[in-house]
Amino acid sequence: MEEVIKTQCVLCVGGCGMNVHLRDGKIESVTGMKEHPHNEGALCPKGAAAPEYNASPDRLRTPLLRDGSKWKEIGWDEAIDVIAAKLRALKETHGARALAVSLGMNMILGGAGTVGVIRRFLDVYGSPNYFTVDSICYRPRVVANTLTFGKVPVPEPENSKCILLWGHNPDASSPITAVRKIRRGLDSGANLIVIDPRRTSFAKKADIHAQPRPGTDCALALGLLHVIIGEGLYDTAFTEKHTIGFEELAKHVEPFTPERVSAITWVPARAIREIARRFAGTRPGCIVQGVNALDQTASGFQTSRAIATLHAITGNIDVPGGASAIARPRLRSLRMPEMLKEKPLGAEEYPLSYSVFGKLIGEGQGMVLPDAILTGKPYPVKAMIVSGSNMALSWPNSPRIRRALENLDFLVVMDIFMTETAKMADLVLPAATFLESTDVLDHFTYVMLRKRVTSFAEAMPDGQFWLRLARRMGYESLFPWKNMEEALDYALEPSGLSVKLLKEEKPEGIRFGSVKYGEYMEKGFRTPSGKVELFSDEMKKLGYDPLPTYREPAESPVNTPELAREYPLVLTTGARNLGNLHSQLRNVPRLTRLSPEPAAEMHPATAHEYGIADGDTVSVESLRGAITLAANVNEDIMPGMVGIPHGWAEANVNALTSEAERDPVSGLPGLKAGLCRVRKAH
Ligand code: SF4
Repeated sequence: MEEVIKTQCVLCVGGCGMNVHLRDGKIESVTGMKEHPHNEGALCPKGAAAPEYNASPDRLRTPLLRDGSKWKEIGWDEAIDVIAAKLRALKETHGARALAVSLGMNMILGGAGTVGVIRRFLDVYGSPNYFTVDSICYRPRVVANTLTFGKVPVPEPENSKCILLWGHNPDASSPITAVRKIRRGLDSGANLIVIDPRRTSFAKKADIHAQPRPGTDCALALGLLHVIIGEGLYDTAFTEKHTIGFEELAKHVEPFTPERVSAITWVPARAIREIARRFAGTRPGCIVQGVNALDQTASGFQTSRAIATLHAITGNIDVPGGASAIARPRLRSLRMPEMLKEKPLGAEEYPLSYSVFGKLIGEGQGMVLPDAILTGKPYPVKAMIVSGSNMALSWPNSPRIRRALENLDFLVVMDIFMTETAKMADLVLPAATFLESTDVLDHFTYVMLRKRVTSFAEAMPDGQFWLRLARRMGYESLFPWKNMEEALDYALEPSGLSVKLLKEEKPEGIRFGSVKYGEYMEKGFRTPSGKVELFSDEMKKLGYDPLPTYREPAESPVNTPELAREYPLVLTTGARNLGNLHSQLRNVPRLTRLSPEPAAEMHPATAHEYGIADGDTVSVESLRGAITLAANVNEDIMPGMVGIPHGWAEANVNALTSEAERDPVSGLPGLKAGLCRVRKAH
């Protein structure tokens, strides 16, 4: 029997609509949903490889319990019994806070219901120690925009006359959704400015391309603000009526002349003036930030504040083609935070990671977690449940992360494959893929049910596992749902949606609300002042710079010239590629062809200086360690830097990175601008 089920791909942030073609219950192929607004029928190579990924012979099939140096296959009942017994004993001996949970990108992309159930479990158990990929990902921009506007405006390149891509390579990171919107804007005649150390595909066709030294973007933004304010190019009416702190901002950016900024960023002063004039003079315009390129730097948080400021003073907020608030479905929270007695680890050091304007984000900053595990301070963390996160590979300073994981009394890893992190666990649980579990994504204006279309061996949806564990712990009265569909119905109710409606009446999805333009005219911005807060009292209260402030990377030719003599190249990590998402999808043959091996990218001038040819095996070293990999010599990366992708076990670039130097506001590590040296390996 043939059947087609409509679902949503979550192999990246795109959330494309996907038709799954089944024959006798087995997946035959997948195609893009024409009626889904994100992809209009297209699928990228990752999405198209979903059946191969789903049926991979490498998948975990059953729970595995460590038995000395071997694994013992066990059933789910036994696995859940083991975990429940360990958690009860842990709480008895060390208190509930000795348990930490860490979720990876897949989990956050995967669905609001699953994350809600996990958070509720932790609340009821009594541990505040919940961490996600946000500890190293996009949280700074969310918090920075919330502080500035009271919300997170989303850029609208499709209606823009000037698109500024900043550290963003959408062809590699979000190949369908983001690219489609940018192309539409360009086809309608928009100007294109690209700020990126790499000559990306978009940079090659840009009107202006600037290549800043990695980690200096905040200084560049301050230079743009200097020119825009100094030359009177800002939107006077909007700024006077709807912002606070403009005078302070103008004074603050006065010293950032293009010449001074050029010395910091290596971008010519002429280009700084040109970008500022073009962006401010071509409205509407919007800035599309890349994922992590700006966040993972010493002043990543303030870079996002500076970009928010650029949007604001050029009058590009809540106008078509600028950056505007979008309506999202109102899901009921599954959390019970009132049951917690304390804040998570990292909330004291990085309070804006935990709450903004008194509104709860409620997460810890995971970068402090290895310290707590290794030192027992401020209190011991003795057990972890890790879901869909390959921390041993994707968190900075991998040797230290591995030491921390080894130091735990009990480590459970739930994942689809036997990852580097899973190999270290006491108990490994086989997770269902996005094609084997039901959930809803709540971060788009177009909502659809991600449906369970098939199953694989003993693999279980993460949400279902946590519901079963809750019952085994005796929490039935607080977890009244038999399955994830019931939990989702509870969460969806205030939005007027339900699983039945999304499954039976609207399997193709439903548009939920629309972009809101100009709402601030009537209601004001959702900040304490009701205005755009260019100067943030909230930041001042917390002891941070209330205006965007540049910090030089901890290791850099400017900050540590002596170290730079020994390690003369700037190391930037984590560029995306079309075939992978972080450490995932490297065992899918059709995707492996797209990025077969890890490589250190460098410009021909850099390679020549060190006697390296394309394809040579090279050793790349930092203060932390060394890795060996192939050289990829090409002209698309600026001279003086080395770019290495993350997520490769064979050449783990996080053996070279450091978690010690963090953005003082967000706590994110500076993965984009360390120092390294390179030599041909013999
Ligand atoms: Fe899936 Fe590709 Fe769409 Fe991302 S862009 S959601 S991986 S099909």
